Amino acid sequence: MAILDIVLEGNPLLRQKATRIRHVDASLRALADDMWETMLEAPGVGLAAPQVGVSRRLIVVHVPAGHDHDDDPEVNLRLVNPEIVRAHGREVGPEGCLSIPGWAGDVPRADAVTVKAVDLDNHPVRIKATGYTARVLQHEIDHLDGILFTDRVEDKSTLRLVTEEEFDDVAE
Ligand code: ZN
Repeated sequence: MAILDIVLEGNPLLRQKATRIRHVDASLRALADDMWETMLEAPGVGLAAPQVGVSRRLIVVHVPAGHDHDDDPEVNLRLVNPEIVRAHGREVGPEGCLSIPGWAGDVPRADAVTVKAVDLDNHPVRIKATGYTARVLQHEIDHLDGILFTDRVEDKSTLRLVTEEEFDDVAE
């Protein structure tokens, strides 16, 4: 595994629509492993392939246990061609992006989503998520469509430079 360089805002790759993946093979699994290691090292709670310079529809998500409620399990996902098929509710909450270091802002997101995807064994999967995990999934899937969280901040006065500690909690 390897730590990859994270592409920063201003790089046109972050504004492209990423390509659909036809078949998961060993090279894609290796990329997912490298993205996983890169996300944990950053540290962040999610990472999309365009953020490491690869314009393909692959995301990884790692939300620590107990994020929203004490008994929430840890969430670990590696998803190919993820797509939101249902979304409900609305909640405004803080987000940051590993491609925009140091900044956070308040973003409205659906509070519950169902995501259809393929796993690294080429099997179809459906993920139901709420709260923070739902937020991270929406942020990462946006990256595949060239959308950054700053595009979604309604109240631009909430965009702020935050401490390293606060950034690590919201970076994705
Ligand atoms: Zn991001």
